[in-house]
Amino acid sequence: MRDCIVIGSGVAGLRAGIELKRLGIDVAIFTKDKASESNTNYAQGGIAVCLSKNDNFDLHIKDTLIAGAGLCNKKSVEILVKEGPDKVKELIDWGCQFDKNENGELNFTKEAAHSVNRILHANGDATGSEIERTLLNKAQKESIEINEHYRLIDLLVENKRVIGAKFHNLKENTLNYIYAKSVVLATGGYAAIYNHTTNPSLTTGDGIASAFLAGCTVEDMEFVQFHPTALNYKKAPSFLLSESMRGEGAILINDKGERFMEKYSKQLELAPRDIVARSIFSEMQNNLKDHVYLDISHLDSEFVKKRFPTIYHECLKYGLDITKEPIPVSPAAHYTMGGVKTDVDCKTNISGLFACGECACNGVHGANRLASNSMLEGLVYGARAA
Ligand SMILES: Cc1cc2nc3c(=O)[nH]c(=O)nc-3n(C[C@H](O)[C@H](O)[C@H](O)COP(=O)(O)OP(=O)(O)OC[C@H]3O[C@@H](n4cnc5c(N)ncnc54)[C@H](O)[C@@H]3O)c2cc1C
Repeated sequence: MRDCIVIGSGVAGLRAGIELKRLGIDVAIFTKDKASESNTNYAQGGIAVCLSKNDNFDLHIKDTLIAGAGLCNKKSVEILVKEGPDKVKELIDWGCQFDKNENGELNFTKEAAHSVNRILHANGDATGSEIERTLLNKAQKESIEINEHYRLIDLLVENKRVIGAKFHNLKENTLNYIYAKSVVLATGGYAAIYNHTTNPSLTTGDGIASAFLAGCTVEDMEFVQFHPTALNYKKAPSFLLSESMRGEGAILINDKGERFMEKYSKQLELAPRDIVARSIFSEMQNNLKDHVYLDISHLDSEFVKKRFPTIYHECLKYGLDITKEPIPVSPAAHYTMGGVKTDVDCKTNISGLFACGECACNGVHGANRLASNSMLEGLVYGARAA
């Protein structure tokens, strides 16, 4: 029997695994696909963290609580914000290359509902893959065992205590029972069960379902965040057009070419996600259209290409040039605020079973996640789970 198994290899699972190893605990990670395949790997805009000169803990806490619509757990938010900077600095020490300005200082950008610039990004709009790369490298350096293509089917529970998990080994098509004294669930959310989604197909809430079937309490399952601006064009996938495009000055227009956010919020395009998504939906309904447009073509084209290389190239694949024309967008399911109910130490109501990251619900996001708080959550609460 192992001391601990971690299920999932996104930011939360990897961070938990690394911390467990550091504590001298025998740990192995099991994951459904290739190790790098996760929502984390696709995250674009960045990671929110209170590290810039203009920022302070109170401001980041306040912004998070406001976005959460009064339904956050304040203690969870305080932990996230206050433990975040050390976790991000550690990530930098492990080789994570966040973008810097011309003076060689970290370059903080702004996203909706943040009152100051506090989002670190990497390779323009490919922050998640840089974080995933860094954590996988670190896990490899620490010789952490990662078992790929193991799909969690059921958690094994005896007398209200977890004793391991049952997996489908997808490569060998076998059932494997792995016994462990404790299990950390880090299996991500369930936004891929929606028709319009920004998530990769593996994000189907398997861990939350297994925990529920094993007797765990789940919470806030009704709170699913729709990203306001996913590509909506012919047969193209609902590819995300990051919030940071609006942070850099992109505007929303309807099919009559009118900028419409002033009708809905004083914060215009930088209102919280739920407000922007609902405003777009109203505009689509009022005009009997299935999309509006996101327009960044008024900015310098070289800047746009450098700042948003992934988005630029992905749109170009479908014949859309973001430097020259408005891009058709509509809201798509993006992030699950709810999940397995935990306390601030990631404990569930089943002894020995812990949950962290998007599959968990410790109240840090309330009814609505503040943009870019989720990868920070994975780092902070992944380590706490350990
Ligand atoms: C397109 C996109 C852009 C985003 N941009 C940002 C951003 O800019 N900033 C930000 O903070 N957040 C962003 N997010 C959200 C963020 O990526 C996630 O909330 C975060 O990465 C979740 O991390 P996690 O470790 O909890 O889960 P994930 O990264 O989703 O990892 C889950 C892991 O569990 C594994 N797994 C799932 N089911 C099973 C199973 N049955 N058996 C075994 N393993 C399983 C998966 O294979 C995967 O390894 C974005 C998300 C998307 C989709």
